Amino acid sequence: EQKRIQPGTVGVFNAQLYDALKEEQALREGLRYAISRRELSVVYQPIINGGDNSVWAAEALLRWTFNDEPIRPDIFIPIAEKIGLIHEIGDWVLNRACIDAAQWSFGKEVAVSVNVSVIQLMDDNFIGALDRALKSAGLAPEKLHLEITESVFADNREKVQMQVNSIKSRNVQISIDDFGTGFSSLSQLQTLDFDHIKIDRAFVQNLEEGSDTIIRATLLIAKEFGYKTIGEGIETLDHAERLTRMGVDFLQGYYYARPLPVRELATWFEQHQQ
Ligand code: C2E
Ligand code: MG
Ligand code: MG
Ligand code: MG
Repeated sequence: EQKRIQPGTVGVFNAQLYDALKEEQALREGLRYAISRRELSVVYQPIINGGDNSVWAAEALLRWTFNDEPIRPDIFIPIAEKIGLIHEIGDWVLNRACIDAAQWSFGKEVAVSVNVSVIQLMDDNFIGALDRALKSAGLAPEKLHLEITESVFADNREKVQMQVNSIKSRNVQISIDDFGTGFSSLSQLQTLDFDHIKIDRAFVQNLEEGSDTIIRATLLIAKEFGYKTIGEGIETLDHAERLTRMGVDFLQGYYYARPLPVRELATWFEQHQQ
């Protein structure tokens, strides 16, 4: 005989789950119109050269305002990936960032660093989209960096290699984002031609607890393979000084600046120069 679910119990049990699903459903629907309704924007967070305090690059971070509320990219990027919208949204960010970087009049040498989802990277149309974005913005490829999370190491090795080679042959640089948080196969660092490693802010926060083991290990790996290193989540002068002393090349975090709209980035830049 079939067991029957007691009416009422399921609802109580899953009320939270139900709310979460409803919420996600609303976000899915909203996301489809985010571009056409002009709800997306890009803010930029400077990345500083720890050696001379100059501005080296700015990371483009996507923002979505939906029903007058900011939705965090940690929430909506995975949804965009799930429903296949990441290609369209990723292209939009890439184009916006290339145009802004080609036009910013402060520090002409300051590069723009754009986050690229692994799903977006692995798409056959990605390299074409990259070329179009650079060309239509008139941005020198040397001024574009792409940030790819280390989960890329879990993907099809040959295909990743192909995409990385295509990117590198255009003189666009590649950063491995959130390094140390995933499950990277270290051997892949050897075979793939990346440029920078971003040390996740979790490890910078660990300094507060007296632990710098992961950062030291990462620096050894970076040195061995010839990668530059970027420390994320620099919130204090102490973080900045300690990482620089340890040999981290570039620094990014609220201590220097929050992610800013491009106009405010220009103002921040002028103040930073003085
Ligand atoms: P991420 O690429 O690792 O970006 C760094 C995140 O740390 C950003 O969060 C940034 O605002 C935040 N952050 C920077 N400095 C500090 C600090 O000193 N302290 C703390 N506590 N946080 C700091 P955000 O903007 O919310 O972005 C979250 C994640 O969403 C990004 O992590 C990235 O993985 C993803 N993301 C953002 N924009 C895009 C995009 O255009 N495309 C893709 N595929 N992913 C994006
Ligand atoms: Mg990033
Ligand atoms: Mg990061
Ligand atoms: Mg991170």
